[in-house]
Amino acid sequence: MDKSSISDNLHLITDRIQSAANSIGKNADDIRLVVVTKGHPLERVNQAVEAGVSDIGENYVEESVPKIEAVGDVEGLEWHMIGHIQSRKARKVVEHFDWVQSVDSLRLAKRLDRFAGEIGKQIPILIECNVSGEESKFGLTAWNELEWAELAEEIGQILELHNLNIKGLMTMPPFFSDPNQARPFFIVLRKLRDYLSTQFPANDWQELSMGMSADFEVAIQEGATIVRIGTAILGPRV
Ligand SMILES: *Cc1c(COP(=O)(O)O)cnc(C)c1O
Repeated sequence: MDKSSISDNLHLITDRIQSAANSIGKNADDIRLVVVTKGHPLERVNQAVEAGVSDIGENYVEESVPKIEAVGDVEGLEWHMIGHIQSRKARKVVEHFDWVQSVDSLRLAKRLDRFAGEIGKQIPILIECNVSGEESKFGLTAWNELEWAELAEEIGQILELHNLNIKGLMTMPPFFSDPNQARPFFIVLRKLRDYLSTQFPANDWQELSMGMSADFEVAIQEGATIVRIGTAILGPRV
């Protein structure tokens, strides 16, 4: 994969994002594309940035911090943590990332808040929700609507942490070869967002981060405002 093929893929994916957005009366500008660079070397990250990528997603602290430091200050570039965060790595995440999409417990949220306070930073976050019940998936338990009141209580406590700004929800549905099978899980996340907006109307619940290489068009049709795409732009991970 060289710079021109990354750029070609980026154009193709941007066109597909635009078509999916248009199909529900939205513009391409309403959807933020986060390019996921986990498993790809620094060189590839730099190529993506040169090709005009403005949001990058990474999963692992050890892998991402050296990349973030090497890429350095680039106007408008934002780094999104999208992977599960171990407690002892929370400080590094706060120091290096612009967004944390994978806040999957109150305990983690409290740690992130504390470290953010120590360095005087306000961090936009998403609450990661498990809408499928798969044990391999991280996220607050959200697949059973009957438990949403309990979930709202926990989220209410995260809302009180003043250095974290909840912008919405994130999820990763099970993988299906037919992306339409992921649709019900995207719908659950959207409905949960709507429920939380009625419970906590003072907060802005706009963002829904859902959809990856295999299913981003379906996710956009169901209300995604952020898609996280790796393979379809950068090729297979090494
Ligand atoms: C790896 C990853 C992605 C990107 O997956 P692709 O299938 O390569 O597009 C998106 N979101 C999360 C949370 C990931 O871990």
